[in-house]
Amino acid sequence: MPDDGPSSASASPPLAEQTDVPPIVVLTAPSGAGKTTIARRVLDEMPAVRFSVSATTRPPRPGEKDGVDYHFISEEVFRRHITEGALVEYEEVYPGQFYGTLRAELERGDAPVLLDIDVKGAASVKEAFGERALVLFIRPPSKEALARRLEGRGTEAKEDLDKRLQRAEMELARADACDAVVTNDDLPEAVAETLRHIRTFANG
Ligand code: 5GP
Repeated sequence: MPDDGPSSASASPPLAEQTDVPPIVVLTAPSGAGKTTIARRVLDEMPAVRFSVSATTRPPRPGEKDGVDYHFISEEVFRRHITEGALVEYEEVYPGQFYGTLRAELERGDAPVLLDIDVKGAASVKEAFGERALVLFIRPPSKEALARRLEGRGTEAKEDLDKRLQRAEMELARADACDAVVTNDDLPEAVAETLRHIRTFANG
């Protein structure tokens, strides 16, 4: 397993060259910026949009369901997916925790598909799919707000929390490379802005 996955867009050129992939909407952000909440609201508001369920080697959190939130798989199976070209992109988002977008998730029909992935994975998708992908960066109002939200969420052990905060720095620096930035200061406003971007993209 490489340390810093080659992000794999290159591992799957055939899919990137396919003309019949659905419109791809990517929500990306530092962990704790609220993108998963926004993703859920988007799916509620736009029932035609389908969520791409990623594969991950991290263990499920309480309440998370296999096949719904993620495909929870072992590192061995993840490695096999890489070898077989089953992933459009993948990253070791945190040390020892791998996440990847399954090619099969992008090949299921014409409906726009929504990806909730990290900033490096988002860049790989953009590189592979160009205009067929819309990458929206969800920015927390401040680093302090991000730290408060992560702590308040209470889903991570202290060590995992620190990993996420350390990584946030790199992630925030990449906002400008995305197609648009949505600041999540007020959730309903951020959802409305995200929906506007997606509707414009899907109708264009
Ligand atoms: P969490 O463990 O908090 O669910 O996710 C950690 C980070 O991994 C989040 O930024 C999430 O968006 C990202 N992530 C989830 N699925 C994927 C994926 O398939 N590919 C990549 N590159 N990142 C992902």
